[in-house]
Amino acid sequence: MTSPYLIVAGWREVSLVDVLEGVSFTLWLSYCNFRCPWCSNSKIARGLLKKRLPVDRVVEAVKAAASFVDYLHVTGGEPTLQLKPLKKLFLKIRELTNLSLSINTNGSNPLAVKELLPLLDHIAIDIKAPLTDPYKYSNVIGLSLSETKEYISKIAETVNVSLQVPFLEFRTTVVPGLLTVDDVLKIADYLEKTVSKRTKSRVAFVIQQFIPYNGILVERYRKLKRTPPDILKEIAVRVAESARSFEVYYRSLEEGVQKIK
Ligand code: SF4
Repeated sequence: MTSPYLIVAGWREVSLVDVLEGVSFTLWLSYCNFRCPWCSNSKIARGLLKKRLPVDRVVEAVKAAASFVDYLHVTGGEPTLQLKPLKKLFLKIRELTNLSLSINTNGSNPLAVKELLPLLDHIAIDIKAPLTDPYKYSNVIGLSLSETKEYISKIAETVNVSLQVPFLEFRTTVVPGLLTVDDVLKIADYLEKTVSKRTKSRVAFVIQQFIPYNGILVERYRKLKRTPPDILKEIAVRVAESARSFEVYYRSLEEGVQKIK
């Protein structure tokens, strides 16, 4: 039987930054259904970086690095857009290695996450703005209000489905001018209400720095400054004051990953 294909943007054999406190082989899959104007992977998200590779070719690359890493972490773009070959990849890696399996998703495809769930050890979900504020979410992800409203209910569903995974990580990037301290506190409040008493899993909330990488297509965001680490810390400390059900971290280029609680 011929191997199915993945549309791949690239991979890094050993990464220290893609799974919280883990070492991963990180695979970037092409294409995304969101259009975040500040996206640092916009070439990947728009399919401008892509190679059609048999799943078996990717399996070989992961196997070669397996003794150096703990996880196979798949990100993008949006990895759930390639559910069938992605599932095949995970099944093969589970069969051939002891690696833990992980995805980073924008949360838009709860059915795909449900299907992958029995295989996954770690899920990172991007919560890009308060789910209670469709206008803001729509600005942050670059889609129309009506599309965004549909996606918001799917993201909430993905969060519910993902409460079963052993290690669940939520990530919010504080893009200056798009997200305020209050927005992140609203996200934390939503997470507390959703997670509280409903999971025995390890849950972490990582508040991330926006970095104006060259890959950002929209010039306005390329010209912004990084979110200052002291602002991230201040937000993380305020989040930690009321967080009961999850660990709280912030991540910046200057300070790496810092745990607050
Ligand atoms: S969801 Fe992620 S990959 Fe997709 S456009 Fe937004 S930031 Fe980029």
